Amino acid sequence: MASNQNILNFINGEYTEGTLGKTWENICPLDGEIISRVHEAGKAEVDAAVRAAHRALNGPWGKMSPQDRADTLYRVADGITARFDEFLKAEIADTGKPSSLASHIDIPRGAANFKIFADVIRSIGAEFFETVTPDGQEAINYAVRRPKGVIGVICPWNLPLLLMTWKVGPALACGNTVIVKPSEETPTTATLLGEVMNDAGVPEGVYNVVHGFGPGSAGEMLTQHPSVDAITFTGETATGEAIMKNAAVGVRDVSFELGGKNPAIIYGDCDFDATVDGMSRAVFANCGQVCLNTERVYVERPIYNDFVEALKAKAESFKRGDPFDKATNQGPLISQEHRDKVLGYYERGNNDAKVVTGGGVPDMDGAYGKGSWVEPTIWTDLEEDHPNVAEEIFGPCCHIRPFDKDEEAVELANNSPYGLATSIWTQDIKRANVTARSVNVGITWVNCWFLRDLRTPFGGSKQSGIGREGGQHSLEFYTEMTNVCVKL
Ligand code: NDP
Repeated sequence: MASNQNILNFINGEYTEGTLGKTWENICPLDGEIISRVHEAGKAEVDAAVRAAHRALNGPWGKMSPQDRADTLYRVADGITARFDEFLKAEIADTGKPSSLASHIDIPRGAANFKIFADVIRSIGAEFFETVTPDGQEAINYAVRRPKGVIGVICPWNLPLLLMTWKVGPALACGNTVIVKPSEETPTTATLLGEVMNDAGVPEGVYNVVHGFGPGSAGEMLTQHPSVDAITFTGETATGEAIMKNAAVGVRDVSFELGGKNPAIIYGDCDFDATVDGMSRAVFANCGQVCLNTERVYVERPIYNDFVEALKAKAESFKRGDPFDKATNQGPLISQEHRDKVLGYYERGNNDAKVVTGGGVPDMDGAYGKGSWVEPTIWTDLEEDHPNVAEEIFGPCCHIRPFDKDEEAVELANNSPYGLATSIWTQDIKRANVTARSVNVGITWVNCWFLRDLRTPFGGSKQSGIGREGGQHSLEFYTEMTNVCVKL
């Protein structure tokens, strides 16, 4: 997928190389080819983006009515859809994910994220109270929502357009302006979106993109900038801790979607075939690089052996290779660096676990031999404190363990510093509900996985995040409420 494209920063409605004079090579994980050179933003570009964002906030964007903002965001969504193939190809080149996945999830959701929050903003009302004090004074109180200001948006590489627009959509709908720092691995779709913003009539300075890295680079500069009013971040828990320290200066708000080590609980009375299908997606989708993927599977003992065999068959059925082949349903990991990390866990598994399937690198033909591919992998017989069971791996792998009692499954599921998501598989709806209320996570699916309604609250508990986003819940972070008390 070689190309010699230049990826530029997008500041105040214009593309710019920036003043730093530094670039890095963007590598396609399918075959190790260089697909573009990315121009790194320095302090001057981050400052310029923040100034542009404040001008837009106090200017045309800030003065636009919610109805006009919503209409503009609909045009942005339509602009993504009109250039669907361009976004698709860019996302595939950056991530290596199969078209069968990106064309169904990443790009359509990238567009939908603008429409859903435009709809939310069209329909919100205000809180209203009639007040009578004990000494007979009367007043009306109403609370209005104002934009929070300039929002720093820091994104990961696993679902680049989808997770970025999941933040930019509500931020803009609420009247804020944004500066996006995409992952160094996946800079392209955020950059392309700048053109769509201009074409949709989004005023200059509302949407800005600065490219760079974390510490000592654009990511850190953005989180340390005193004129960035709030920071929304999706990524690793350790990065979240570093960002939170920076945000503490000036007491700036944060919204965090962080790591997970998600459990699934499979009861003996589940619909077996549907569960195996669902778990195959839950464990292996996007090569295990979705924060919601399952890496710990607990199965009731009577069906344990059958389940292990059935998931093994699924793991061995994935087709790797040309991302545009409709039959391809597994891509590579995002980079050689990430593959080294995942293979470290595979090596531990090979030494310590019973390896049901996988544990290595597949043979790939031709140029794909230079890509960052790994085999889908299943382990059993590890203790719960083994790194492969306790730590987030972010690869296509899981550990499966049998259990005997419902309470035992819940205890195992809760035995993690993370609390992002779980899935529960049973045909006994009472059992499902009792379990769902006992597992300490932000999102629970019953007899499904990743079935999303964008109006629902999304986020993690424990070390998996702070805050909830989605539908009206996003207003909590992206707006400030002002209560107005009018004495009658
Ligand atoms: P990282 O935390 O490594 O990076 C995320 C973003 O933060 C990147 O843009 C990165 O830049 C930037 N960054 C890194 N260090 C700093 C810093 N000190 N200050 C400011 N910015 C910084 O996460 P990954 O990209 O590796 O993504 C994978 C992680 O994301 C997994 O842990 C996964 O669970 C989590 N995730 C959580 C989701 C959720 O909803 N809870 C959803 C999706 C992923 P750069 O990459 O250029 O270094």
